[in-house]
Amino acid sequence: MTTTVKTVKNWIDGSWVESRATTQETVPNPATGETIATVPLSTVEDVHDAVVAAKRAYQEWKVVPVPERARYMFVYLEKLKEHREELAQLITKENGKTIKDARGEVQRGIECVELATSTPSMMMGDALPNIAGGIDGSIWRYPLGVVAGITPFNFPMMVPLWMFPLAIAAGNTFVLKTSERTPLLAERLVEIMHETGLPNGVLNLIHGGKDVVNGLLEHPNVEAVSFVGSEPVARHVYQTGTANGKRVQALAGAKNHAVVLADCEMEKTVQGVIGAAFASSGERCMACSVVAVEESCADQFMSVLTRETEKLTAGNGSKDEHFVGPLIRQSHKDRVVSFIEKGVEEGANLVVDGRDPVVEEDGYYLGATLFDNVTPDMTIWQEELFAPVLSVVRVKDLDEGIALTNQSRFANGAVLYTSSGRAAQYFRNSIDAGMIGINVNVPAPMAFFSFAGNKASFFGDLGTNGKDGIQFYTRKKVVTERWFN
Ligand code: NAD
Repeated sequence: MTTTVKTVKNWIDGSWVESRATTQETVPNPATGETIATVPLSTVEDVHDAVVAAKRAYQEWKVVPVPERARYMFVYLEKLKEHREELAQLITKENGKTIKDARGEVQRGIECVELATSTPSMMMGDALPNIAGGIDGSIWRYPLGVVAGITPFNFPMMVPLWMFPLAIAAGNTFVLKTSERTPLLAERLVEIMHETGLPNGVLNLIHGGKDVVNGLLEHPNVEAVSFVGSEPVARHVYQTGTANGKRVQALAGAKNHAVVLADCEMEKTVQGVIGAAFASSGERCMACSVVAVEESCADQFMSVLTRETEKLTAGNGSKDEHFVGPLIRQSHKDRVVSFIEKGVEEGANLVVDGRDPVVEEDGYYLGATLFDNVTPDMTIWQEELFAPVLSVVRVKDLDEGIALTNQSRFANGAVLYTSSGRAAQYFRNSIDAGMIGINVNVPAPMAFFSFAGNKASFFGDLGTNGKDGIQFYTRKKVVTERWFN
């Protein structure tokens, strides 16, 4: 059977438009290596067209009553639910994650649209009468204008949905620049959004790479930028965007730690760690990549973890039996393999070696990989690998586990496994991470809470989703008023 190769176009002002790009990239199915699409690396002129369309649409969209804007999101929500399985299959096809993980992502994306339906309540301001004799004070929230969203490959559905539903419901218009490695899902998200009757120009999609990103960061009519991706690019986006006077939230890379205490529920802890480290092939900003385990239970923990890791098979994620799908590209796999080699060279103990998994298909597979006796001076402890590679560090006690975790330059998520409430409370107060879990494998907050890390995992001050999200996409006006007639 031959695969149809789709040529992806930009969506500007309500139509599919050919890019002026002179360069295209091919998009393979990571499970098979087969080309499934070509994507244009659009030009700064294409960016300009999209921003102009969004700016024009903003003039009418900002005065559409807030409940009416939210109603588009109620319709979108229902439509996404109707397309649930199709979207999950498409995520697996272009990203490689297993169908189970893809279904989970679709659900998390849908929850972001649920949040956007509540914009009328979330966007309310504050008021206080009689702040002085005959004077009332109040705060009003207004949209910003044109907002740009730049997204990574690893959550092609959920991350764009962190951004445009809330931004649009708040009265902004939007230009989405999705990852050039996963353009197909974004295309469907935009198509389905327009089935709701959304006016042209309110949501636009531009495909491409760094030229599009820089074009958005420098465009005078873009008011704010939401970015999610790796640390160096997040830093660049934050610095360039803010230097150009824009509001920027830039969610960046991570190296998430778990601390395992001897009083934990051992079997459940191991299952939690396995899910957090190896699901979605470890290509999650919230993946657990280091476990600091208390010495007194470390041998027992390693024996159960090794046994369970060895059971995990890698393979095409569209087949239910596999736990680990392919990595996104061969170049990424090569980079991870060089990190594994470095880990061995630097003296870590490679307990489960996933470098050569037995898989019939010709994709970019790396099996679950486990290191023991890792130390914080090793490269595999310090760098984000973004792969199914887990490092175990042995620590004396909770204090050492916390101190070690806090040495990381990243601070996205951190998890403690324990049965002690006191230890949990101490961990929450002492650990430096934006998102904390106690006996849960991935502490990714639900959409009604905000999502962001600390330190080099986040540049900005308002995260995505929840109250932060609505604050990021709105501008406040404070009114102090007195009336004489
Ligand atoms: P990436 O940084 O390579 O790409 C992200 C976006 O930036 C893409 O749209 C890409 O086209 C663009 N881009 C890439 N290089 C650029 C450059 N030099 N100049 C301007 N733009 C550029 O990230 P990725 O590999 O797609 O995604 C994985 C990374 O994203 C990981 O580091 C992961 O931790 C991070 N991530 C973070 C979060 C979070 O919430 N903190 C969530 C998801 C992913």
